Amino acid sequence: MLQFADRMKTAKTSAIVQVAEKVTAMKKAGRKVISFSIGVPNFKPAQHVYDAAHYAVDHDSGTYLPGRGSEELLDAFIKRMQEDHHLTFKREHLSTCIGGKHALFNIMFALLNRGDEVIMPSPYWTTYPDIVEIIGGKPVFMHCGAEQDYKLRPEQIAKAITPRTKVFMFNNPSNPTGMVYTADEVKALAEELKKHKDLWILSDDIYNRMIFDGEEFHHLLHFAPELQERMIVVHSVSKNYGMPGWRVGVIAAPLAMTEKLLTINSSQITNINNISMAAAAAAYGGPQDATETTMREFARKRDAVMQSLAKIPGVKCPYPKGAFYAFPNVAAYYGLKHDGVVMDNDITMCTHILEKKGLGMVPGSAFGEPEAMRISYACPMADLEEGMRLFSEFFAEMREQNKGAVNVA
Ligand code: PLP
Repeated sequence: MLQFADRMKTAKTSAIVQVAEKVTAMKKAGRKVISFSIGVPNFKPAQHVYDAAHYAVDHDSGTYLPGRGSEELLDAFIKRMQEDHHLTFKREHLSTCIGGKHALFNIMFALLNRGDEVIMPSPYWTTYPDIVEIIGGKPVFMHCGAEQDYKLRPEQIAKAITPRTKVFMFNNPSNPTGMVYTADEVKALAEELKKHKDLWILSDDIYNRMIFDGEEFHHLLHFAPELQERMIVVHSVSKNYGMPGWRVGVIAAPLAMTEKLLTINSSQITNINNISMAAAAAAYGGPQDATETTMREFARKRDAVMQSLAKIPGVKCPYPKGAFYAFPNVAAYYGLKHDGVVMDNDITMCTHILEKKGLGMVPGSAFGEPEAMRISYACPMADLEEGMRLFSEFFAEMREQNKGAVNVA
């Protein structure tokens, strides 16, 4: 009998992709659907990025390239980290990958034996546990609910650690919550991590430029440079530069780890795509003003979402300071009916809102938080306004249809 590997028995398609596919199918069938579901930044990179890509096509060497990445890309990345965050990396600490997702996969592939545990704050990005599981590791969640602003507290780390714990994952700014850790919060986490010396630290910084309201990006390394010997930093051009389809990620890691990643690259991809690499080098190395304008636009959209959510009784949403997501807690409405259907959980509610209102959102359970749902607000302003109108209308109808049943005020 033809058989697949055991690891594929539990492997699943990303829940976010599943919602996006449903939205696409409904649109194809002629339904008007507004999608708040996918994590696409919805802006195009600056002209100098396209120019660099054209130049790379015209001057193609016709050969394979270094598995680590081109010197132009590595140097541009080093410069960006130094100028933006005073983080110092050397070329020998860097390697490249086909986007952040591929980076995370290869890092886990290099680190995990069967049964090794990876601790992560929950809500988490859906793909984290999926990757850990497919490789045979065990995700362990540290729950951070809306009441603690979806942010990890240092004391949760020690509680989650067991003799099998190998990796701590951290994502700031966060997908799905949009939370950004303050300097004090990052410092407290860094202090705690210093105590757990056998722990690899994976810092997923792919939203590092997407921070609003004059807040700053604070890194664990700012407060504990000694963590660098076990710190693996993941970057990508997907979100910051509006380049998700170009598929370029950069990993900064200790030398021994980088060697392992290069070994994997050598038997897996050889090198990342030449044209994308040149474009990414231009994105990191060129003027940054285009992304700054875009961030102001995102902050405006975030405000529109939050103003609308604030008017819905019983819906609680910690104020996002970064990325392009809001993560409202809607649990006060669970158990109530809408058009005769009981909204027993986030999946029922998201499915129902999609069908009744033509509004696509990802259920919070895809991110480990069944009390919430994720709004990705990186869509055109007109869609955002209409989508939020439909969202508010849905909850107003629920209050009307369940008068007296439950108090959500
Ligand atoms: N990390 C987080 C937190 C993400 O949200 C994503 C994409 O949505 C990624 C990593 C991977 O992005 P990419 O593979 O496009 O670089």
